Amino acid sequence: MKDQPNIAVIGAGVIGMTVAKLFQDQLRNANITVIAEKYSADTTSDVAAGIFKPGTHFKGSTKEITKKWLTDSWHFWQDILKSPDAEQMGVMPLGSYIFSKENYHVTRNHLIEGLVPIYRPATKEELKMAPEGTKFGSYFSTLKVECERYLPWTGKTLVERGAKMIRGKVESFASLSNYDLVFNCAGLGAKYLCNDYDLVPIRGQIIKVNAPWVKHALYGDYDTYIIPGLNGMVTLGGVRGFDSYNLNYSKYDAADILERCCEFLPDLKNAEVIAHKVGLRPHRMPVRVEPELIDGLKVVHCYGHGGNGVMTAPGTAIDAVEIGLNFLRSNVRNKL
Ligand SMILES: Cc1cc2nc3c(=O)[nH]c(=O)nc-3n(C[C@H](O)[C@H](O)[C@H](O)COP(=O)(O)OP(=O)(O)OC[C@H]3O[C@@H](n4cnc5c(N)ncnc54)[C@H](O)[C@@H]3O)c2cc1C
Repeated sequence: MKDQPNIAVIGAGVIGMTVAKLFQDQLRNANITVIAEKYSADTTSDVAAGIFKPGTHFKGSTKEITKKWLTDSWHFWQDILKSPDAEQMGVMPLGSYIFSKENYHVTRNHLIEGLVPIYRPATKEELKMAPEGTKFGSYFSTLKVECERYLPWTGKTLVERGAKMIRGKVESFASLSNYDLVFNCAGLGAKYLCNDYDLVPIRGQIIKVNAPWVKHALYGDYDTYIIPGLNGMVTLGGVRGFDSYNLNYSKYDAADILERCCEFLPDLKNAEVIAHKVGLRPHRMPVRVEPELIDGLKVVHCYGHGGNGVMTAPGTAIDAVEIGLNFLRSNVRNKL
């Protein structure tokens, strides 16, 4: 392996920035270049509420890998929470309720019930916090990561330690043949770079409102959620449009979201609206974290995190970095 290998990371969303940071932590003398069309505040990662509550469908290539990614991610964020930099990095603890009028199963989450410190049924008193007719509920302790803070913080640290950030579109892996190793963290952009038809957009839309009096995250039926963040900013959602590429704001979706959220907290209708945001979740089953030799170029893919990319970025990045380090040290020149 060269003394100062040249590493390219495609993508400056939560996956690319976390991979770049963890790789730099492991190999401080590497020349790292992040290449991305969009940076914070314009990535999908910036749209996310960033709560640690994986969809129960989230998966890696095996059950063990899925569990490892979630466990490693949880501990990564917990370590930050214990540090004085947590708020500056956008990481905060958060209590959360899931309520349902109809379906007990949506209040359970097998992926985190043994991981987070508290996951319990809601009490009768707590069920009264939900709209009339709510029969089922759970409470769990979790955390949230605001990419508007986490991405700039990570970018600053990377640059201070010598990494470069370039704005531009990578049209093909062939254009990166001068690098020793490439991490492909292009999110939905990987669909075109890799001709990956398993990667599908799931459209989301949210409203950011100023409502500092909201203290807990609340989930309801039909993808309804209210997630408080730092500085009194609350995220209201949501919608899921499978295979939709529509990045335009829809006033109908916004009205529907507000109506559903106001069923929980009627005072939200008077909250100041700060922004409406739309993003396309890069959904793939399983999430792709694996090496590939493309015309002699060593590439490690890390994409397809769907609606779970903020919370699971560290776990998948730890694996991607380890795969990358082994790949870099190997003499493989032929197809894997
Ligand atoms: C409404 C909504 C709510 C969400 N809520 C949560 C949540 O609560 N918790 C959670 O964990 N996740 C949540 N998510 C999911 C999360 O946002 C994604 O999983 C995550 O952002 C994916 O990160 P990424 O880095 O792969 O993609 P992105 O953030 O999209 O970044 C991709 C990067 O690659 C670059 N790129 C792409 N193609 C190219 C190319 N050819 N050349 C150069 N650069 C390229 C882009 O410019 C960008 O910099 C939510 C998503 C949405 C839309």
